[in-house]
Amino acid sequence: TVIQKIQSEGGDNILSLSKDGHKELSTRSVIEKRLLIALNQKDLHVLYQPQLDLKTNKIKTVEALVRWDDSEIGTVTPDILIPIAEETGLINQIGNFMLEKACLQAVEWQNLGHSIQVSVNTSIREFRDKNMVDVIRKILDKTGCPAHLLQIEITEKFALEAEAEGSIVKQMKQLQADGVKFSLDDFGTGYASFRYMQILPLEEFKIDKSFISSVAYQNKTQALIRGMIQFGKSLEMRVIAEGVETDEQEKVLREYDCDAIQGYYISRPISASEVTQLF
Ligand code: C2E
Ligand code: MG
Ligand code: MG
Ligand code: MG
Repeated sequence: TVIQKIQSEGGDNILSLSKDGHKELSTRSVIEKRLLIALNQKDLHVLYQPQLDLKTNKIKTVEALVRWDDSEIGTVTPDILIPIAEETGLINQIGNFMLEKACLQAVEWQNLGHSIQVSVNTSIREFRDKNMVDVIRKILDKTGCPAHLLQIEITEKFALEAEAEGSIVKQMKQLQADGVKFSLDDFGTGYASFRYMQILPLEEFKIDKSFISSVAYQNKTQALIRGMIQFGKSLEMRVIAEGVETDEQEKVLREYDCDAIQGYYISRPISASEVTQLF
């Protein structure tokens, strides 16, 4: 399929000759074309992955993850979809779609008596839109979602770039003042800069799953994770571990006083109605 092709070629443009000698569209532009259609038809959907709060043993937050099963090109995973969407600028539309869906869902859960925070991934390109604060305020307004039930996840790369862009820091602070929370995703993987911890209004960080996978048997990893959790505590930030797959990992993270865990051990990403059944 198209997707297997793009994976085997490492994601680059592929121009090949079809039987009649015409150049086929590159895989990227096929995805882009299908994505535009999918966005117009609201064909993307959202799965939610619950996070278990280790203090209360309750689920208080779910992460919203985009899913796309296209009728022509098949399933396009986020690892392929998001970079292409970022390059083409369609990420803003994906972001708006995800924010609106997640906020609507939070309201639906609230109406059922469950106060659940939704955590939505974003790309820096969305915040380069000078109207991003208004966009989010309008979504909160339209859906009736209280600001404190929305959390926005940013990556370390986002944080590093945002630190140098005053307008983005300003937008984040405006949203924080409204009650929106910010979470730093994939912590510890990319950019060892702590300056952004000082500058950005971050409530929590998520220890990347690459650390968690070896926590049960590697001393160095244990020391790193313990250190990261302590680091979070001294900054008064919540610390979440992602990619928790075993009871052994959960045990260690509890022992280290981690605030919450997310991973297949708790639940895979599931549909909103499956989440509702969990409550
Ligand atoms: P992420 O934000 O770090 O999300 C966690 C990823 O890890 C998800 O992959 C999730 O399915 C996977 N995961 C969860 N628990 C486990 C586990 O126990 N073990 C392992 N091996 N994996 C686990 P997914 O859904 O494929 O998303 C991949 C990435 O794509 C996300 O990483 C995020 O960076 C990005 N992404 C997903 N949805 C969106 C979106 O709506 N907007 C943006 N900008 N990025 C998104
Ligand atoms: Mg995330
Ligand atoms: Mg992550
Ligand atoms: Mg990731």
